Amino acid sequence: MHLQAKGFGKFAILRLIGWTCIAFCLSLGRPIFHLVNAIVQDKHDRPPVARERVNDASHFNDTAVKVVLDVPGSMAEAEDFLRKILVRAQTEKTHVSLGGARHTMGGQTILDDSLHVNMLPLNAVSLSENHEVLHAEAGARWSQILPFLDRHGRSIEVMQSNNTFTIGGSISANCHGWQFDKPPIAASVISLRLMLADGSIQRCSMDENKELFKLVLGGYGLFGIILDVEFKTIPNQLLSRKSVVVPTSRALAAFDQLIGEQDNVRMAYARMSIAPTSLFDEVMITTYIEKENEPIPPLTDWVETPFSRVVFRGSVGSDYGKKVRWQAETKLDDFLGSDLTTRNQLLNEPSEWFLSASAARTDILHEYFVPRNHSSAFLAQVKSIILRHQADLTNITVREVDTDQVSFLRYADGPMFCFVMLFNQEIGPAAERSMAKITRELIDSALDHHGRYYLPYRLHATDEQLRRAYPQFGQFVERKRHYDPQEIFSNQFWQKYSR
Ligand SMILES: Cc1cc2nc3c(=O)[nH]c(=O)nc-3n(C[C@H](O)[C@H](O)[C@H](O)COP(=O)(O)OP(=O)(O)OC[C@H]3O[C@@H](n4cnc5c(N)ncnc54)[C@H](O)[C@@H]3O)c2cc1C
Repeated sequence: MHLQAKGFGKFAILRLIGWTCIAFCLSLGRPIFHLVNAIVQDKHDRPPVARERVNDASHFNDTAVKVVLDVPGSMAEAEDFLRKILVRAQTEKTHVSLGGARHTMGGQTILDDSLHVNMLPLNAVSLSENHEVLHAEAGARWSQILPFLDRHGRSIEVMQSNNTFTIGGSISANCHGWQFDKPPIAASVISLRLMLADGSIQRCSMDENKELFKLVLGGYGLFGIILDVEFKTIPNQLLSRKSVVVPTSRALAAFDQLIGEQDNVRMAYARMSIAPTSLFDEVMITTYIEKENEPIPPLTDWVETPFSRVVFRGSVGSDYGKKVRWQAETKLDDFLGSDLTTRNQLLNEPSEWFLSASAARTDILHEYFVPRNHSSAFLAQVKSIILRHQADLTNITVREVDTDQVSFLRYADGPMFCFVMLFNQEIGPAAERSMAKITRELIDSALDHHGRYYLPYRLHATDEQLRRAYPQFGQFVERKRHYDPQEIFSNQFWQKYSR
């Protein structure tokens, strides 16, 4: 009996060790297999765009243009060069298309057989003596501007969530970010200089050429060439992060509580779960609170963490990957990320770290602006549209955007919640037809909830949807023809919706 018990004990221990090993392998095996698979599937095989062709961030728009012309880096030479292009366009009876970082996704920078101007080389930046005004040439990217401002203790009031974009492109889309309680970027533009179709240069602001100023902000390059821009700057900030994960039904109350507890919230966003078991049912709300009167560390170079990319890309086309990512974002972030950061550090993040580099698939953004009191009903419809079409939603964040009092073609007539959605899809006609259908349904839903959709993305909206979302579009077209009667400045967006 005693011996038997001893033998049984030995077996029991061995069995226990065996089961523990199996359980350990099973629990770690799946995530490890998933992550390795994600690395293998994350193809970097997208071919470069050929000479005299242009494409944009959709990777759907590889187009032959007459010529790609790089603007010179010195302003005096650039002005002369651009005037000659405008004369050439008139003589050759063709159009001029303008490109910054080309992160629009619907050919807003592109037109067949046009003279395409690459604005990137025109990118000098400087500060006024009191550091309160930034002067930036149109081709400067935020990735260049933020380190420059940081050296002077300054930051930017409103920009996108990534640093990849140019000044010219950002104000032509009238971008917004997750800066708390702020309207789109138009409100922080003091003035700009614009070269019109006849080669003349106009300074535009709320006091000078006001109509043009309002049209150019959010005008998608259709009124002239933005040469340079003056922006208000603000002091850089030391920020401390606070996140809570709550059921979506409690999100608004939790958000109000987080905001109400602090009077110095500077950045805020919410990320919704895309995991199938909790799709849109859970939300992580993150705020950044300014810590005043403490030393602010200098900006450090952005460093890519391969783990973040693998976890992100692993959520493409995989329910399990979406679950792993939600777990990582809600549970691990607090351990891995630093609690204290600076405003410039947060903003100085490129978009390339998470975007697809594959020849076969692409990531497509959508943004919808809906008044707060309609946001729950809108979300319920979005969820059912996504489930019905089995669309591969890989990210959804929510931000607040305050009323736009400046731009003509405005998307924020009043305070809005902005829903930013990233989808992954094949690059091909069938996937595109399906995405067009989904987009139209999502737009209809936003419109039915007194909302808008954002214009820099794919041109899937119908004419009628565009005009419902932007009732001032007819007048926009009329003013474009007034300022540019020969339609020298053009792109696929204009060609599609102006007729
Ligand atoms: C990954 C990703 C993340 C994004 N995140 C956000 C976000 O957080 N918030 C947001 O609001 N938007 C966001 N966007 C959209 C983005 O802000 C716009 O697409 C913006 O226009 C990109 O800037 P760009 O330099 O790439 O512009 P481009 O695509 O190069 O140009 C945009 C428009 O501006 C015109 N243009 C460019 N330069 C000039 C010039 N010098 N003079 C006149 N017209 C000019 C072009 O002709 C075109 O019509 C995002 C896009 C992507 C792909």
